[in-house]
Amino acid sequence: MIKYIFVTGGVVSSLGKGISASSIGKLLQARGLKVAMLKCDPYINVDPGTMNPFQHGEVFVTEDGAETDLDLGHYERFLNAEMRQGNNFTAGKVYEAVISRERKGDFLGATVQVIPHITDEIKSRFRAISKDADVAIVEIGGTVGDIESLPFLEAARQMGLEGGRDNVLYVHVTLVPFIKASEELKTKPTQHSVGKLREIGINPDIIICRSEKPLNAEIKAKLSLFCNVPKESVIEAQDAFSIYEVPLMLHKQGLDDQIIMLLRLRTHSKDLESWTAMVERLRKPKREVTIALAGKYTDYKDAYKSVNESLVHAGIAHSARVHVRFVETTDPDLESKLAGAGGILVPGGFGDRGVEGKIEVARLARENRIPYLGLCLGMQVAVIEFARNVLKLKDAHSTEFDPRTRHPVIDLLPEQKAVRAKGATMRLGTYECAVRKDTLAHQAYGCAAVKERHRHRYEFNNKFRKPMEEAGLVVSGTYAAKSLVEIVELKGHPWFLAVQFHPEFKSRPEAPHPLFRDFVAAALERTSPQAYAR
Ligand code: GLN
Repeated sequence: MIKYIFVTGGVVSSLGKGISASSIGKLLQARGLKVAMLKCDPYINVDPGTMNPFQHGEVFVTEDGAETDLDLGHYERFLNAEMRQGNNFTAGKVYEAVISRERKGDFLGATVQVIPHITDEIKSRFRAISKDADVAIVEIGGTVGDIESLPFLEAARQMGLEGGRDNVLYVHVTLVPFIKASEELKTKPTQHSVGKLREIGINPDIIICRSEKPLNAEIKAKLSLFCNVPKESVIEAQDAFSIYEVPLMLHKQGLDDQIIMLLRLRTHSKDLESWTAMVERLRKPKREVTIALAGKYTDYKDAYKSVNESLVHAGIAHSARVHVRFVETTDPDLESKLAGAGGILVPGGFGDRGVEGKIEVARLARENRIPYLGLCLGMQVAVIEFARNVLKLKDAHSTEFDPRTRHPVIDLLPEQKAVRAKGATMRLGTYECAVRKDTLAHQAYGCAAVKERHRHRYEFNNKFRKPMEEAGLVVSGTYAAKSLVEIVELKGHPWFLAVQFHPEFKSRPEAPHPLFRDFVAAALERTSPQAYAR
């Protein structure tokens, strides 16, 4: 019998519900259990692929090409597992499925309603994800009290009724704010949010309290009494120095033991040794380096979540702290903004705001021999820069930004030209890439064939490949089936590598992505060549 853990959030958003769910997953996995993860998003978009990163943070792409919520990135990184299409669904997807069945006549004669039709569809998705797992952890997006999340919470309640108390557990992640003026932690918001949950018929079994300060025994007793949970099920989650420390913090308070007892799970002894060692390395770096991240959502860090995490992972590999300096490419005088950076990273992006600045950044990296890692749009701007300033094709551009350029070095393939709809129509998901010998890419990967995830519409235009190669651009990776250029490098540059795909989706804290690892190594070498020998 599969057991379910529903994770809900109270009081405010951005409490780190995703990190809590991932941490629970990590702890149970460390006890030898097979864990499935699922994220429900209560909005009407069918997936987050069409949303602005300001609205929703990064879009995380899975192996099978699903455009998903960024929490799936945490699931993959914490559990070292691969998520798929079914691990994330939205209210939009649920309604789309129910309405299309209604049109087919599947409910002939009935009035189609939120309860039971929408909730049945949600429950069938809860069940579909966890076929061979011991435990399924279902994170419900939004905050308790939102209109949108009601059908999901109702479905979670029904799962408890049908599955019984030993099989379904509710974990509520909430905020216990610290009021500076009176120097007090306040339990009232949590009481209200648990009250709201109970109105819907869900009694939380465990509450995870996010707070800036430790919860003393008195506060814990109060939360226990008012929220109707045993004292040992009031778990504190103070701000951590790194998200990777959270599972260990929760473990110390016996969270996994609680869950195992409440769900009557049979488990092995715990295995958190290598995770603990990784966190220790992260805590005690021996050197440091600054990477300039040149993008356009620099005020909103969630937009580049996986890129940031990949840099953290690469830092762990070298016992180095990686500082990320966000550089807004619409700003003037980019050269001074890059000063002191050991390496420059240009991440993916859409739309022309800041593109000229990114092209300029690629030029500065090339000419000043600064280590450069370009991701997706970061490769496209590197190619445009090379065409403009090395091949002297002054108006070279991507047709995304200048449809009439005479030198479309980045362009759509014919099949993309016919595409009108925006949702899920890009080149998405995993593709094989052949890696050329004697290149930085081959040195990093250590093999001739890799698989990487994509999310883009535009491609390197092969019409320009020959002159570019003759001028010193090295094509070190290709998708052979369609002769598409996937990785480029620069002859004679210490470390300049740009990829059409998104390696950031595959990096893990205990297994950094090879390209990030070598990029940070090159940046460290530039920062302190004597102290750091690769
Ligand atoms: N806008 C570019 C394209 O669609 C790059 C996309 C990206 O960086 N993910 O091809």
